[in-house]
Amino acid sequence: MAKSAKIINVDDSEQARYVRARVLSRAGFIVHDAATGSECLKLIAEHAPDLVLLDVNLPDLHGTEVCRRIRSSPAGESVIVLQISASAVAAPQATAGLESGADAYLIEPVDPDVLVATVRALLRLRKAEGDLSAANERLNILNRELQRSNEDLEQFAFAASHDLHEPLRTVASFASLLEKTAGAKLTDVELKYLEYISEGARRMQALIDNLLTYSQVGQKPKSPQIVDLNAALAWAIENLRKRICESEAEISSDPLPSVTGDTGQLGHVFQNLIGNAMKYARPGIKPVVRLSAVQENDHWLILVRDNGIGIDSAYFQSIFGALKRLHGKEIPGTGLGLAVCRRVVEAHGGKIWVESTPGEGSTFCFTLPANVDSDDVAQLTK
Ligand code: ADP
Repeated sequence: MAKSAKIINVDDSEQARYVRARVLSRAGFIVHDAATGSECLKLIAEHAPDLVLLDVNLPDLHGTEVCRRIRSSPAGESVIVLQISASAVAAPQATAGLESGADAYLIEPVDPDVLVATVRALLRLRKAEGDLSAANERLNILNRELQRSNEDLEQFAFAASHDLHEPLRTVASFASLLEKTAGAKLTDVELKYLEYISEGARRMQALIDNLLTYSQVGQKPKSPQIVDLNAALAWAIENLRKRICESEAEISSDPLPSVTGDTGQLGHVFQNLIGNAMKYARPGIKPVVRLSAVQENDHWLILVRDNGIGIDSAYFQSIFGALKRLHGKEIPGTGLGLAVCRRVVEAHGGKIWVESTPGEGSTFCFTLPANVDSDDVAQLTK
């Protein structure tokens, strides 16, 4: 059963006090009576009540003063104060009472049912407030834990991928040395084995590089700059130049905006999306990639559209998860490209998703806050 709420019933009129105490006890509350303001303050310290029913006109202290003192005492900070006053002086007193910290106000004569219902409503409200702040507190604790465990994980991924470089380099260089020195004496099968070792080392190297990038891009940019996305795109295209020439891809873009963030990280997003557009092209069809941007309220929507193999809607969400691939070894990859894109975009305050029709192509869409005005850019490019 729920614990009965404790009420301090304050009135200098014995009769009024008696009537209210009866009504409230019958309604199931635990009632302590006080005839003066000082007695009320003493009982609050003793009983830590849930609610104080406070008559305004007391012999020693005025109701508003009692209220002020309740609010400034440790035991009274969160107690509910319901003031009651005579009708003749109601309006100014109501204002003064509420401003001095009372939660609600009733005017004499108070109907017993209205009194009980008001007390119950105020208690419900206070309980809901308590539940909400407890839930908030729990949420804050969970958030802090999540942040800590994310940071741990990032540090772990960084350290692990860093430490894996060295032994991997040893495997790759000895495999190549063996091929050079003993290649002529090895059988075709043995040479094939060596090739598998080198290929495995190359794939592992790519995985480690991508894991390193993934572990580094999760944080909000430490020193955000104004990023001209046209320049970030040019950087990405430059890095992909060889693959663009080989696949004869056609890449075009509308003018892109400037945003706040990290140039390198946003360049990586373009590099991964355009790289994928070429990698997942339809056989025999030249990749065509078109970039565009539109401003929607407080953010930019950037679109990267391709004419590739497309993606089944069942995978629209999961492809952004780390190490998630829809293809086997026939198409090289680590399953981290889109996960990196998501981390970068989210760390910049945006969202990323895909729209696609299998067999026709995909459009990768992402948002970035539109918080750079043209004056900032002009200032910077002077
Ligand atoms: P990876 O390309 O290394 O496999 P990504 O994280 O970049 O990893 O992509 C995850 C998966 O999403 C890919 O394996 C691929 O199946 C699918 N995908 C990504 N981009 C495209 C695209 N433009 N067209 C079709 N499928 C794509």
